[in-house]
Amino acid sequence: MHTASTGRPVLRLLSTPLEREAPGPLVSFCSHCGSHPGAAAAQARSRVCETCGLGLILESRADVAPDAGDAFLVLDRSLAVCAVSAGAEYLLATSEPDAVNRHVTDLLMPAGTEDTGGHSLAMAVAWAARGEGGTHTIVVRPANTFGIRLTARIASCGPTPAALVVLA
Ligand SMILES: [Zn+2]
Repeated sequence: MHTASTGRPVLRLLSTPLEREAPGPLVSFCSHCGSHPGAAAAQARSRVCETCGLGLILESRADVAPDAGDAFLVLDRSLAVCAVSAGAEYLLATSEPDAVNRHVTDLLMPAGTEDTGGHSLAMAVAWAARGEGGTHTIVVRPANTFGIRLTARIASCGPTPAALVVLA
């Protein structure tokens, strides 16, 4: 399974710092409900979402940020789950407390060829979690369900560098 990349070629990503990308505007979003805090809340730099009271406010490029209600995960550079949105809890039949700190492949499996697909899923998450620019799109399925194919859009988010995986 090849990685369909909408960004730069992979080899360029490794040598190109995020600062040299043309990242576009950053937007804030809640790690749980996906809502975007208003400008006032963003300026207050509150870390907890005012809409649901559960999620932390993260930020990413506008073109990769989830919308309210979207299914998405946030993972760290060890490929461990940091956050699961309400939409992803439903889609993956899990709950955030159960999913946090588990490995990405406990929740998502590549839907392509096992070896190369798993490799590219893990690699894309690892790159994004290091703050590399670019966006990777990989076909996956829930680890606990066959017959469902999801498109995972993987990009970096912050403020602490992490991988944002939006499922559609
Ligand atoms: Zn929220």
